[in-house]
Amino acid sequence: MEITKKERDCIVKIKELSGSFPPRLSDLAVGLNIKPPTAIELLERLERKGLIKKEHGMIILTDNGNNEYSKIMLAHRTYETLLSMSGVSTEDACLQAEKIDYLMEPESMRHVLKSLGSPEKCPHGKPIPKE
Ligand SMILES: [Zn+2]
Repeated sequence: MEITKKERDCIVKIKELSGSFPPRLSDLAVGLNIKPPTAIELLERLERKGLIKKEHGMIILTDNGNNEYSKIMLAHRTYETLLSMSGVSTEDACLQAEKIDYLMEPESMRHVLKSLGSPEKCPHGKPIPKE
């Protein structure tokens, strides 16, 4: 699925903010540092793509949305690992990975991971999704 950088950031933020309760529109607008009308527009696009749903004002990732999140994290953490193994600082690796993670093909990421010795965690110690 083709998504934009803003949609990517929104998906990641929904997941990050989903603690005991899913986030609301206002939480997301603050978290993404955008105005509520912009957040509404962004969420409408994600809803049309079947990546999120709204329930009682709470914003929830659908199965497809969770799947998209895993693909982003697979690429993010693979690319981070690659850069960090090459000597780039963890912080820089993270900042650069988020510029491209949503564009990468999961299949290619699995090849890269294999060539890196199949690490299971990123430099921050977070698990690298298998799928
Ligand atoms: Zn990162």
